[in-house]
Amino acid sequence: MINQQMYALGAAPNKIRELFMYGLGRKAEIGAENVYDYSIGNPSVPAPDAVREAFLALLEDDPVSVHEYTPSPGDPAVRAAIAEHISRRFGVEAAAANVYVTSGASSAIAITFCAVCQPGDEIITPSPYFPEYKTWAHTAQCKLVEVPVLEPSFQLDIDAIERAITPRTSAIIINTPNNPVGAVYPAEALERLAEVLRRKGDEFGRTIYLVSDEPYREIVYGAEVPYIPAIYTDTIVCYTWSKSLSLPGERIGYIHVNDAIGNAAEISTAVSGAGRALGYICAPVLLQRVVARCLDVPADVAEYAKNRAILTEMLREIGYEFVEPDGAFYLWMRALEPDAQAFSDRAKEHELLLVPSDSFGCAGWVRLSYCIAESTIRASRGVLQALWDSYHAPTLTCG
Ligand code: PLP
Repeated sequence: MINQQMYALGAAPNKIRELFMYGLGRKAEIGAENVYDYSIGNPSVPAPDAVREAFLALLEDDPVSVHEYTPSPGDPAVRAAIAEHISRRFGVEAAAANVYVTSGASSAIAITFCAVCQPGDEIITPSPYFPEYKTWAHTAQCKLVEVPVLEPSFQLDIDAIERAITPRTSAIIINTPNNPVGAVYPAEALERLAEVLRRKGDEFGRTIYLVSDEPYREIVYGAEVPYIPAIYTDTIVCYTWSKSLSLPGERIGYIHVNDAIGNAAEISTAVSGAGRALGYICAPVLLQRVVARCLDVPADVAEYAKNRAILTEMLREIGYEFVEPDGAFYLWMRALEPDAQAFSDRAKEHELLLVPSDSFGCAGWVRLSYCIAESTIRASRGVLQALWDSYHAPTLTCG
């Protein structure tokens, strides 16, 4: 007998990865240049030179210690460097003891949910949302409560969030800049959200933690990304270098329990416990030490900004409706029929890979990852037009 819940997860991979795998197969069959793959958020910008230099320098170190185990929450020197970086960059107190190094944001969020939630609790997410939030909430034996954002701005609906908070709400997870819609939440909205969380927390006699999922913190096109722990004290940041340093397959990130939380030390101990329980200990050591040497290396967003400009102009010319992205490298486009899956399937007939919105908890849209080669974006114009035309074919009339 096997665990049926785990079997179901394994048998039905998330839609992003399903389409990504399909794309790999099609590329092998018909050639990569013939597939317009907007499926996954794999950065198209190479990792900065500083990353390569750090790798090479570290490989010259002692050949045993370079591959050694570190303590479960990470190398003490790496945790101290990350804490110092947070402190300097955001002007806050940050102790190494409140930093837990992880294998990317995925393990950071799974650990955090398990650390601060009890079985049966509710975790709120604005929707659309990153699909794996549901998986990680279920791992923590919690229910994910979806609260649709406002349309057409795709900004937080704070009144709806307030209505969704119950005595069982232990956390809310937000992601700004946002995957999949590209929205960046301004400080005023976050301040209003903080006021609601404080008030409802007082009403129900419990702390509502804000889990801030920040893979795209640096990837913005002029918008300002507020530092959330400075706005809402009970915040736990989940960060990853997957996007900012183009290291998605290397699996490296961190959790920072805001030092100003009254029981930060207790939460950090629970974070360590959850990391242990889930088997997420001692993140890849070489990567820990690489990122510690690259903390001040800026993300290169110029290519994404260019792709964004090319894609939005193209879609506008053809006639598609979409949300102008302020950050991240995703574009949220309205499907040309109510069934996003059917629209995505029709796009596939043109070798165009668009992720349907349903698994993001929202009907009728698709997501395009534009962290791909500029040439692919330009070359996709024909199939985007053909897809549009297939829904707008002139009807023939007799007489
Ligand atoms: N959260 C969001 C919003 C993401 O877009 C991603 C990855 O694309 C993750 C979490 C997971 O990040 P990582 O690949 O570092 O585990």
